[in-house]
Amino acid sequence: MTTTTHTAIGTLVGTAVGNPLLGFILGLSSHYLVDMIPHGDMFMREPDNLVNKITEKLAHVFVITDIALGLTLLTVLGYFLPNEITRSPVYIASIFGSILPDLMVGINDLVKTALGRKHTQVHFFFHDFFCRKHGDPKLRYALAAQALFVLGVIYYFSI
Ligand SMILES: [Zn+2]
Repeated sequence: MTTTTHTAIGTLVGTAVGNPLLGFILGLSSHYLVDMIPHGDMFMREPDNLVNKITEKLAHVFVITDIALGLTLLTVLGYFLPNEITRSPVYIASIFGSILPDLMVGINDLVKTALGRKHTQVHFFFHDFFCRKHGDPKLRYALAAQALFVLGVIYYFSI
């Protein structure tokens, strides 16, 4: 899933639980579980989980745009949510937990370590769990579905 989608899920977790450690663990767990839903980005990776060299520029544009949209989402939600929520450790820990796995994969793309490689294997075990067997949808449809979900989260917090 996009970082923006994981961020949206992290905000839901961060407003539903009251403990930062629990928020972090639930946010982190949600990342691996939600990534199991086929979401059209499998073609951007080689079978060894490294970035596909043919689609590398697209992947960079995708990630940069995604991070900008994730930050925009946090800014928009900062407008709707009270400061005591958006500045709370549980909110921050939940969002951080929900995006940490992709951050670690990205760091492993740049700096190879044994721990980073192991985590990348674990991440893509979950990420590719269903799409390896059943195929991956077109990226545009997956992005449209995720955009609707994120807009739904914004609407939820705006009412
Ligand atoms: Zn991921």
